[in-house]
Amino acid sequence: MQKKSILIIEDSKFITSFIFKSLKNDYDISSSLDPEEGLRKYFDEQPDLVILDIMMPKINGIEILKKIKDFNPKTGVIVTSGRTLAQDYQLAIESGADFYLFKPFSPKRLQQVVDNFFSGTLKLGSYEELVEENKKKAKISYLPPKHNKNSYIKFWGTRGSIPVSGKEYISFGGNTSCLEIRRNDELIIIDAGTGIHGLGYDILNSGIKTIHLFIGHTHWDHIQAFPFFTPVYIDHFEINIYAPKGFGMSVEDLFSGMLRREYFPVKLEEMAAKFKFIELADFKPLQFGDIKISYDYTIHPGITFGFCFEIDGKKIGYATDNEFLTGYHSDPHKIKDNDSILEPYRHLIKMFKDCDILIHEAQYLPQEYESKVGWGHSSIPNAVALIRLCNIKHWIVTHHDPIHTDDFLKNKLQIHRNILKEGNIDCFVELAYDGLKIPM
Ligand SMILES: [Zn+2]
Ligand SMILES: [Zn+2]
Repeated sequence: MQKKSILIIEDSKFITSFIFKSLKNDYDISSSLDPEEGLRKYFDEQPDLVILDIMMPKINGIEILKKIKDFNPKTGVIVTSGRTLAQDYQLAIESGADFYLFKPFSPKRLQQVVDNFFSGTLKLGSYEELVEENKKKAKISYLPPKHNKNSYIKFWGTRGSIPVSGKEYISFGGNTSCLEIRRNDELIIIDAGTGIHGLGYDILNSGIKTIHLFIGHTHWDHIQAFPFFTPVYIDHFEINIYAPKGFGMSVEDLFSGMLRREYFPVKLEEMAAKFKFIELADFKPLQFGDIKISYDYTIHPGITFGFCFEIDGKKIGYATDNEFLTGYHSDPHKIKDNDSILEPYRHLIKMFKDCDILIHEAQYLPQEYESKVGWGHSSIPNAVALIRLCNIKHWIVTHHDPIHTDDFLKNKLQIHRNILKEGNIDCFVELAYDGLKIPM
């Protein structure tokens, strides 16, 4: 008996030789890598079966399929394709294909389809059956590495000075400073700006009982929403408040002073939570479960701390208010590691050195900074110098100026990038916004 003949029209050399190897020797097989030549070959050789790729250059495989079926409807055509959309399947079947085989296919599957065609038992599967078969091929779906959903940092307030609201502040938000650091049942909060209001509701039913609240300094934008932090009114919460030891007033006095009757109807001693006030002065790192926190002075009016925390081998720096290189207006790239101008900042460079993420302000454009020296905030170029000196690869800018609208901040971000690029500094920079959450 004469061998049955098969023509492969397929523009991939690799797949063509794969098909050759997949099929038994009892077929007479020829092939063409070029669709136009393949069609000519079809008319010359008039094979019994064509294995046709439908995604090829120059001519669409569907057109070839139609020409084959117009010439001789009895020629079998098995369409093979990496396109697995229902529309592609439908079009091929309506154009006369005898079978639609999803790529990639196994040698066994191809042999089976070809054998069934020649024995007259090839049954055209429905699209759904093909999809199902394809799923089985994958056997186990890929799963990405897991991360702990209860381990993250989240920005609840990213604004300095005063909260802002309105349509100009939708992207970045308008709440003043508040950062949540969470690792399972350990909760650390830095600052009680207006962002803490939403955080308070978020933790009410979280099972958390102990809250460690750090205050970087006691300017309004870092404490103003403390009376609106709902856990202070609930007796099962234990709230430990850590703040820099001041000159004169104790931390507890600062908080009770803010809650005097003239300012607010509920006094500190009338609040239901259990409070403990801890004055930070010895610069010894603190440990809460898996989280280690250290702190040091930043350059800001009054006593102000920047923080560094370590979670799961990652080191994150945090400074919302820090005027790095006070009064410096020149090129930030010219400052060398051993420059004497850096002397007042050595401790900060040391603390933030090699942080995986540095969260640090850069409140002013260079031209704004000219009239704001001594206000306690950095210009963008001076903050870039800190980024370079500390070898930071990921910088999140926070504590945005209240007059900087969304549109302004988006343009400002580009200025950070331009300065980094100009100094060949390999660092990803982004702007914090209210709600930004980073898994740890
Ligand atoms: Zn501030
Ligand atoms: Zn301040």
